[in-house]
Amino acid sequence: MIEIMQPPVEPFKIKVVEPVTIPSEERRKKAIREAGFNTFLLLSEDVYIDILTDSGTSAMSDNQWAGMMLGDEAYAGSKNFYNLEKAVQDILGYKYVVPTHQGRAAEHLISRYLIKPGQIVPRNMYFTTSKMHVEIPGGKMVDTVIDEAHDPENLHPFKGNIDFEKLQGYIDEYGLDKIAFVNVEMNVNMAGGQPISMENLRKLREFCDGYKIKVIYDITRSSENAYFIREREKGYENTPIIDILNEMMSYSDGCIHSSKKDCLVNIGGFIATSDKEIYEATRSSVVIYEGLHTYGGMAGRDMEALARGLREGTQYEYLKYRTNQVRYLGELLMQANVPVVKPIGGHAVFINALEFLPHLQREQWPGQTLSAAIYEHSAVRTMERGAVSIGRDSQTGENIFPPLELVRLTIPRRVYTNTHMEYVANSVIDLYERRDTIPGLKMIYEPKHLRFFQARFEQMTL
Ligand SMILES: *Cc1c(COP(=O)(O)O)cnc(C)c1O
Repeated sequence: MIEIMQPPVEPFKIKVVEPVTIPSEERRKKAIREAGFNTFLLLSEDVYIDILTDSGTSAMSDNQWAGMMLGDEAYAGSKNFYNLEKAVQDILGYKYVVPTHQGRAAEHLISRYLIKPGQIVPRNMYFTTSKMHVEIPGGKMVDTVIDEAHDPENLHPFKGNIDFEKLQGYIDEYGLDKIAFVNVEMNVNMAGGQPISMENLRKLREFCDGYKIKVIYDITRSSENAYFIREREKGYENTPIIDILNEMMSYSDGCIHSSKKDCLVNIGGFIATSDKEIYEATRSSVVIYEGLHTYGGMAGRDMEALARGLREGTQYEYLKYRTNQVRYLGELLMQANVPVVKPIGGHAVFINALEFLPHLQREQWPGQTLSAAIYEHSAVRTMERGAVSIGRDSQTGENIFPPLELVRLTIPRRVYTNTHMEYVANSVIDLYERRDTIPGLKMIYEPKHLRFFQARFEQMTL
């Protein structure tokens, strides 16, 4: 029996509340069927605690809301853009910023500039939209994360690290001219929100310099990654988060950012770089796909909230509370022996669906099944992160069954209380006690791209 930590104290007080209710059992049963057992297709009104995603679901601060009133909605040269540019320069150390409406738009612009058909993009695991944007211009994403990342029980402190032997293997197999760039994700989402170490980032820079390969980061969860570096990596115990972030970014050629996560805003994203060529190329294409290069799909007020949120999201006390709230939920589940990915990650607790539902075949989609069952049981909305999410092999068309078949309990920032975490934990634990009564699912509708968003399922008989 593990000893549970004290729930973390909140470094804020609540000024505005949004009422929520628990729908009846009858309504939940109906709602999940109407949604084809896909939690993405549920109505928000039918959800009590929404831990589908931490994307765009943060509560903004009074300071960010005040910034919203200072939106300069000029088509060109909005002062909010320059505030955003300054925040990126101060916090991340990059010279140039190209704003986009959210992360995948930044991925689109980077990919169409840097990837030629037939090239590969090595990355520490993968992310759904990132993989898609590598495939659209004719590329392929290949996995270079360390083996430990694929093992839910392994306690490695930096499961997001790159394995240099794997990377070298891809260079030898495909040839140097086939490497478009190396892509590095911070606090790797699909691995369970697991960080990469500063040492690994530094080594990667040296390795890639030897071959003149570009290193492009996905810094969506970089502030939470920086917090883990400070907690776990020797030499950084007392380093300010901003200094850690500046050093991390100094080992890259540029990055994409989905600001809907660590920047505490509901919408926004950007490309940042100090490389003039990457900047000029993406600044030139942003005007085709997003909007002028001083707004890129965001309103002035949204850029202001983002500029302020980028700074706020790096405060040590906030990051400590944030990651500890996630850990608190994880420890409640671990104490009841619910199988979760360890160590507990930065933004979410990931349940190992293969162990939770051992009576199901992979083709019965254990992750999807569990996510739907949690909703039906308690009106808590989670999401599958397993075979449905990864999709099919782009060459053979076959389903891919990754080693990790997970359900993600993703905690929005500053939104739910520790009592909400206890409700979630108790609901999952209760379901775990009758897990063998949960029947599997059959996929009855599959869209062509990013199928997890819109696929529909039917319940099989037990
Ligand atoms: C959310 C996310 C993206 C995509 O960003 P959107 O803002 O949702 O378009 C890219 N990479 C990672 C790691 C993400 O979590």
